[in-house]
Amino acid sequence: MPGLDRDDLKMVLDSITEYADANLPDERLRELDAADEFPEQTVRHMCGEGLGVSLLFIPEEYGGMGGGAFDVYRVCERMAAIDLGVATSVLATFLGSDPIVFGGTAEQQERFLGAIAEQGLLMAYGATEAGAGSDLASLRTVATPVETDGQVTGYRISGTKQWISNGGRADLYTILALAPGGPTWFVVDHDTPGFSKGHHEDKHGIRASNTAALTLEDVEVDVDRLVGGVEGLGLVQAQAVFGYTRLMVAAFGLGAGWAALNRAIVYSTMRIQAGSPLSEKQGYTHKLIVPHAVALEAGRAYIEETAERIDRGEEMLNTEGAIAKYLSSEAGNAAADAAIQAHGGYGYTKEYMVEKIKRDVRITTIYEGTSEIMEMTIARDRWQQHLKTRGQYYHDRAEALEALAVTHPEVGAATAALALHSLAELLELARVHRLTRSQHVLFRVGELVARAEGAEALARRAARAADGDLPAKADQRFDAAALAVISRVYAREAAHRVGVDGLRLMLGAAAPGELDPASASFSARVDAVARVQAGLIDDMSEVAAAIYAQLPHGR
Ligand SMILES: Cc1cc2nc3c(=O)[nH]c(=O)nc-3n(C[C@H](O)[C@H](O)[C@H](O)COP(=O)(O)OP(=O)(O)OC[C@H]3O[C@@H](n4cnc5c(N)ncnc54)[C@H](O)[C@@H]3O)c2cc1C
Repeated sequence: MPGLDRDDLKMVLDSITEYADANLPDERLRELDAADEFPEQTVRHMCGEGLGVSLLFIPEEYGGMGGGAFDVYRVCERMAAIDLGVATSVLATFLGSDPIVFGGTAEQQERFLGAIAEQGLLMAYGATEAGAGSDLASLRTVATPVETDGQVTGYRISGTKQWISNGGRADLYTILALAPGGPTWFVVDHDTPGFSKGHHEDKHGIRASNTAALTLEDVEVDVDRLVGGVEGLGLVQAQAVFGYTRLMVAAFGLGAGWAALNRAIVYSTMRIQAGSPLSEKQGYTHKLIVPHAVALEAGRAYIEETAERIDRGEEMLNTEGAIAKYLSSEAGNAAADAAIQAHGGYGYTKEYMVEKIKRDVRITTIYEGTSEIMEMTIARDRWQQHLKTRGQYYHDRAEALEALAVTHPEVGAATAALALHSLAELLELARVHRLTRSQHVLFRVGELVARAEGAEALARRAARAADGDLPAKADQRFDAAALAVISRVYAREAAHRVGVDGLRLMLGAAAPGELDPASASFSARVDAVARVQAGLIDDMSEVAAAIYAQLPHGR
């Protein structure tokens, strides 16, 4: 695997944790949150000379560490477990420089990436506008060519940007603007005349991150600031990095979700109610802890697989990035919400931190593409795969899992395969009856795809763990036996969602009488889903035992 070796990654993760333990204890994080303060010195220390987190994503030839997607995932998860506001500020430089990393000329890479490595510059990524959020193509910021002797020597940029992380404090910005050839990225210095920054937004969460609007009034840049040297590649460059950047936000959801859940796990061992600790009460663990640990680990399995694929050189993994982000950010939000409930009244106060984590993690289903846009992206792509393969796409994937179930019957692969077969049938039903004309159906299909593929990834991860074949840099919290039972629990849920909720969706979308709920194929599907639920509660108890066997400590 390219990127850092295991020991170097461990060193980076340990130094982040040590720095945070010394400089960002809970009390300090609560102060920053209450004061709505961006800890600029801390962020600059973490990005630059002190910790050098920014070096991670810069290629070695420009003075960086040349980390890969797997390294970035592990670092993002660790940072998010500390504080998602600080993580957003530190990682905004990754985002801001991505158009240069993926689309810049060699000269631009050397110049700007070299400067980030040497000087620890903070960057910001300026894509969103008041009228162009999910729909970036409606952007209104314009870049007008400036000509000298008939040659384009620069651009004059005018427009406004909204919700830009590090917006008020960055040294360097990548700005998406409409040039005559189409949307194009430009690199803009913070002090260029005509460039002004709005106030620090008063936000629901991640209050330690600076978010600001930007105004550009006839901001002039030289032609060598046009990323890639060719106009009109902006949206393609933005798309090219989505597989990667969405993985970062997925890791944020995972890190923040686990941070909240870990606090609930520890708390539940100490809180005595009705004569025993909460951790010994099934009504508590099987609702507030276990399902969230399981969903987070499905997100992790998907993140790790996607990161490995990116590091192997696969391109255009936008759909995979979207699934990773969707699963992990939704799971992170649900886990943080459950962590408040798990603390009872104490969870509702500031002191226990889980209410802050819940406010912070809320952003992960919004930025870098909302959950609904993820659903649309996922559904559209997999719908095309279904059509292209004449309905075989998910049957083929299910058969591969059935083969895995032969060698690894314990990892829930057969149940995950059932979810995938059901998905193939559902998509075919939607095709025959033209049900994806309904946007709601299409988006819900996006969710079902994510769940079924999440179950598939988790079963594969559990099987690899059993074979001792997980990447050296993979998370090691759960052993192979625990991962197998975690996978079985998740696969049952996925099979149920696709097989039962999916049918309900199709019945709801069809005209009255068009589909027969009592048909043999419907009944067979529902029966199959019902049969695999046997043993669920015992498996959940096993997951609880694995979670409590090794209490989390530290961050
Ligand atoms: C704290 C914070 C930091 C941010 N940092 C950055 C940054 O550094 N750089 C940057 O460029 N941007 C940044 N953003 C912007 C962020 O990426 C956008 O807010 C996000 O993409 C959503 O755009 P929007 O806010 O305009 O919402 P909208 O696009 O208006 O969406 C509103 C709602 O409608 C739904 N929706 C939208 N389109 C459709 C559709 N076609 N069909 C059905 N439903 C739809 C959405 O899912 C959402 O629920 C940040 C935002 C925040 C809040």
